[in-house]
Amino acid sequence: MSNGTILKISGPLVVAQGMRDANMFDVVRVSNQRLIGEIIEIHDDRASIQVYEETSGLRPGEPVESTGVPLSVELGPGLIGGIFDGIQRPLEEIMAVSGNNLERGVEVPSLNRDRIWNFIATANAGDTVTGGDTLGYVNETNIVKHKILVPPGLSGTLVRIQDGEHKLDDVIADLEDAKGQIHSLNLYQRWPVRIGRPYKKKFAPTMPLITGQRVIDSLFPLAKGGVAAIPGPFGSGKTVTQHQLAKWAQADIIVYIGCGERGNEMTDVLNEFPELIDPNTGESLMKRTVLIANTSDMPVAAREASIYTGITIAEYFRDMGFSVALMADSTSRWAEALREMSGRLEEMPGEEGYPAYLASRLAQFYERAGRVSILGSEDREGSLSAIGAVSPPGGDISEPVSQATLRIVKVFWGLDAQLAYKRHFPAINWLTSYSLYSDSLSSWFNENVAADWNAFRARILLILQEEAELEEIVKLVGMDALSPADRLKMEVARSIREDFLHQLAFHEIDTHTSPYKQFLMMKLILLYYDKASGALEFGADIENIVNLPIREKIGRFKYVSEDLIREEADSIESELVHEIAETIEKEGF
Ligand code: ADP
Repeated sequence: MSNGTILKISGPLVVAQGMRDANMFDVVRVSNQRLIGEIIEIHDDRASIQVYEETSGLRPGEPVESTGVPLSVELGPGLIGGIFDGIQRPLEEIMAVSGNNLERGVEVPSLNRDRIWNFIATANAGDTVTGGDTLGYVNETNIVKHKILVPPGLSGTLVRIQDGEHKLDDVIADLEDAKGQIHSLNLYQRWPVRIGRPYKKKFAPTMPLITGQRVIDSLFPLAKGGVAAIPGPFGSGKTVTQHQLAKWAQADIIVYIGCGERGNEMTDVLNEFPELIDPNTGESLMKRTVLIANTSDMPVAAREASIYTGITIAEYFRDMGFSVALMADSTSRWAEALREMSGRLEEMPGEEGYPAYLASRLAQFYERAGRVSILGSEDREGSLSAIGAVSPPGGDISEPVSQATLRIVKVFWGLDAQLAYKRHFPAINWLTSYSLYSDSLSSWFNENVAADWNAFRARILLILQEEAELEEIVKLVGMDALSPADRLKMEVARSIREDFLHQLAFHEIDTHTSPYKQFLMMKLILLYYDKASGALEFGADIENIVNLPIREKIGRFKYVSEDLIREEADSIESELVHEIAETIEKEGF
């Protein structure tokens, strides 16, 4: 503990003197109003403090008290369905205490202390346990079985474990360590947000995080435990894409961090998310979601903390063996908070005023994603996949935050305002997007979906690239100047875009496509291409080939329900072969 006094105040930054005994990253209480802050720099007895609440009205000379502990989150039952601010204060509860205009210095525990949970013990007294081992579980919602784990760093023998109804603070087990010391364990644990939770080892990204979104899974797949970035020009469908991912990605738990976007955007998230229905259960998506929200009236400093708060919560669920998907929207707003603090600290500015450590901070955040072998005596794995939205001013990704992000992430889904304008959704640009996981995931797709998956994927991508080149030629000399083979290629590319990549989020069937159906769709389009090319070689007329009735069936295949896809694909295939043969015959070859 260390007590000092305020020396000066500059927006969210407070400098205090008399803080010689304080540590970096200690949480402090500032002024008699006890505002929450965190030490981000210490020189001699002077501490620079990032304050998470409005600092207006503070005066030099007011007291500053260090709590001696780093900024931490509470991890336990009550997280799911929760809506927290950047330092894990439960928004509803603080509003209940202080009304809509958040009062300063309000102290509300992050997790509800009065609620009673039914703890079902799976470990027994006498068991030897170590950090990460499961003591038991609580059915937090009817979907999430929340495991109560031995906190990392502890090991020993369970001398007592208490089944039954408990509040969060109750002691549910006593653990005796090698030195004979007893540690009482509650239903929750604490963890400092700036330190990643430990695991045994990280696996290479060899499994996809299937999302049911065709342009993503087929062309630019994300690995389980992988990291992706998505830019969000206004109106390009970022919100819809994020909702689709939250609903359909093969993740058990969703952590959504909203970093103070434009004005009421966060309020939209707070209103919309609870209304989303989880397609797998028919229940509210909130039953497996944690929301971290920085509304625009909160000080920027809280944004800075929010991504650490969010990822720590995500790691905690990963440690239970879940597949967790974390979405941060947007990391650009987070970086702006970093820039503002850096400016006030009078640090040497880097590019566009961002601090020189912008890239390393971003990397530290994304590094906490991964598919890992989790701590504990059993062999279990969990994964944390991270998707960060970037919102570069004017949509120009040459600015520092986008550039730093692109150097770290392995997947880029380039949402494109022009595609959205043409109503091509999802407006993910196939020419600018990429996935560096596609090679390491190729065996998974070939083994688990179909042997030709990667060959098809490569052909589809190639046709799309060639289409872009042909378009340039068409602009100069017109469509008529193209050879029949090139015209066919353009037609096939159009079919890929319209019949395959275009996917309606609001259509009952189209909203989600299994990997196998995605494969069948690619197969049909490529089969048409091959058969039609063959016919052209015979000398068939390109107009007839392009206008075959079967093409409409290929176009409607996306609306065929999953139970009927095999028969339908077979029947389209044979009709296709038949129609092409007929054309050739009619033309007298
Ligand atoms: P942003 O969040 O980028 O401003 P939205 O996600 O709200 O944009 O999308 C804007 C509009 O685009 C939506 O209201 C919707 O009509 C349309 N849209 C976006 N993505 C899709 C999609 N996958 N399917 C159908 N419509 C979409």
